[in-house]
Amino acid sequence: MSCSTPVQREEFDRYFIPMFNPAPFIPVRGEGARLWDQAGKEYIDFAGGIAVNALGHAHPALCQVLTEQAQQLWHLGNGYTNEPVIRLARHLVNATFADQVFFCNSGAEANEAALKLARKYGRDTHGDHKTQIVAFGNAFHGRTLFTVSAGGQPKYAQDFAPLPGGIQHAPYNDLAAAAALINDHTCAVIVEPIQGEGGVVPADPAFLQGLRALCDRHQALLIFDEVQTGVGRTGELYAYMGYGVTPDLLTSAKALGGGFPIAALLAKAEYAKALNVGSHGTTYGGNPLACAVAGKVLEIIDEPALLAGVKERHQWFLKGLEEIQQRFPIFEQIRGRGLLIGCALAPRFAGQAKALTNLAAEEGLLALIAGPNVVRFAPALIIDQAEVEEGLARLSRAVARLVRDAAQ
Ligand SMILES: *Cc1c(COP(=O)(O)O)cnc(C)c1O
Repeated sequence: MSCSTPVQREEFDRYFIPMFNPAPFIPVRGEGARLWDQAGKEYIDFAGGIAVNALGHAHPALCQVLTEQAQQLWHLGNGYTNEPVIRLARHLVNATFADQVFFCNSGAEANEAALKLARKYGRDTHGDHKTQIVAFGNAFHGRTLFTVSAGGQPKYAQDFAPLPGGIQHAPYNDLAAAAALINDHTCAVIVEPIQGEGGVVPADPAFLQGLRALCDRHQALLIFDEVQTGVGRTGELYAYMGYGVTPDLLTSAKALGGGFPIAALLAKAEYAKALNVGSHGTTYGGNPLACAVAGKVLEIIDEPALLAGVKERHQWFLKGLEEIQQRFPIFEQIRGRGLLIGCALAPRFAGQAKALTNLAAEEGLLALIAGPNVVRFAPALIIDQAEVEEGLARLSRAVARLVRDAAQ
């Protein structure tokens, strides 16, 4: 057996704990917003590794920084710091509201750190009563026991009970319901500025403004989970900038590494001090290899021209999707910001989002779902116009097949 022994998709089902059901083909190579599978079939990639591959596949500048860093230093552990991690922290602090950062490896881990920080800050500063967390229905914050409990989809949590306590949920975008839960016992409110997994649902500006005011009144920390919306996805470096509502803590992951695992918790110094030496940590966090790549990702994305390009691409998508909608009225709503776009299916096609993305893959287009009724796109932020048009042409063929199948 060697690294070059042929492998087949069927082996996935044999060797893996069966928690995923990947597509029937295996991608082997990518370039920009295109991928090729084992059989040489080409795909346009509107999935972007679930909002991760913000600079597409095999971006030359990322390949260069990765291979250069690979020849210098991969890993040290937390007994030592390193140059790439300090550069990355400096960039994040200079570009955002935050004063200090903590690096880890996944969105769940960043949210776990944010919630732990908020609990400890609340207890240290206000006393043992200040432990309650307010979160929202349909939210997604990751798969650790704490984050799955904060998430608003009981189906992901209930089988793992007993769950961490002290977490209450209000319906998303319902400020009055949130106000009824937030009080002086609340240590944190955690919210996605746009719910990603929950169906690509943007927050109403007044909802986020109202949460900010409630947190101020009750001395609770406002946590924005920007794991999916961060690092240019919405056409702002972080979505909070477009909303004009500043959180106290912010979590970032997915696009931050452009495909290399890394995540960050961004914090104001006043709150950051709660997590002092020994109170939290992680082995790989701030690893030089990950930080060198993320530093380059941030350098490329945190540029006005690139961010403006994301908003321009949103319009390309809207135009093409509206054309599809005119031919086959399949969508109830097209929503989202920048290159996080959700197409909610009309009631007649309820539950068919996965069926549509399966057909799209057959036509040579990779797309995501966000729940059973929403097709989601989160492509590379630098996808070009010809790729968007070709991808939408393939989507249109898939839609035609779905509509035809429904008519039979
Ligand atoms: C993907 C996601 C997470 C979880 O990130 P992982 O890296 O999978 O742990 C958390 N929050 C949001 C909003 C996400 O989209």
